[in-house]
Order: sequence, then C-alpha cells, then structure tokens
Amino acid sequence: MESITVKSSKRNELIDINHEVEDIVSKSGIKEGICNIYAPHATCGIIINENYDPNICLDIVDLLKEYVPQGKWRHDRIDNNADAHIKAAIVGPSETIPISKGRLVMGRWQSIMLADFDGPRERKIVVNIIKS
Ligand code: ZN
Repeated sequence: MESITVKSSKRNELIDINHEVEDIVSKSGIKEGICNIYAPHATCGIIINENYDPNICLDIVDLLKEYVPQGKWRHDRIDNNADAHIKAAIVGPSETIPISKGRLVMGRWQSIMLADFDGPRERKIVVNIIKS
C-alpha cells in the first residue's frame, strides 16, 4: 500500500493526481492487475474524467455547488460542512483502474483527480495495486 499527499488550495477543487499514481504503478513492477485509488476522508472523493480542458473540472465543481448549496443542511449545525459530505458521497471515495503491460489502462482524455470539497487542507490518498 502506497500513499500520495495532496494539498488543496480552495474549498472546492479538483486536483490531478494521474502522474503520482502512474509513478506508483511503474515502481511496483506489476505488469498485469488492478490499481485502486482511495480517499480515506468523509469530505473528498476520487473522480476519473478529462483534465485536458480544465474547464471540465470547474464545470463539475459548479454543478455540485449548484445542486448542493452550503449552509442549509442538518449537519451544518455540527461543523458547517454538510455540503462537502454530500458532494463526497455523490462522487464516491475510490476508483479502480486495470493495469496492462505495466501501465494504467486509461483513455486519451482520462485523468485521475482528487475532488476536495472541504479545503484548503492536506489529504492522504491511498493507492493499492493488486497483481492478477
Ligand atoms: Zn462534518
């Protein structure tokens, strides 16, 4: 099990972690298998989508902000971040990607991103590689 430390700089932000995950896969020496990327946190998640046009990341953040506004939920009485919990639940905490010939099987436009909804803060992302 390996981990990646990521620092977000905004409350809602998508951060590309593709190269960090690819490095872990390549250092593992595993040629065929699966790679699981997991965020052990309640207010962020993992997304695979396009980052070539960074506006897609901003569009995803805008959609979630529009659908899940801040400050109108029961949990806000505890620590005022219910929207971050709900957004993280919608996105989900992990993604699993096949590995073939020592590389992640990714589409031309796909990137792995940490989706932080309660930044700025430091997040630890867990990467597990299983040989098949
Ligand atoms: Zn909370």
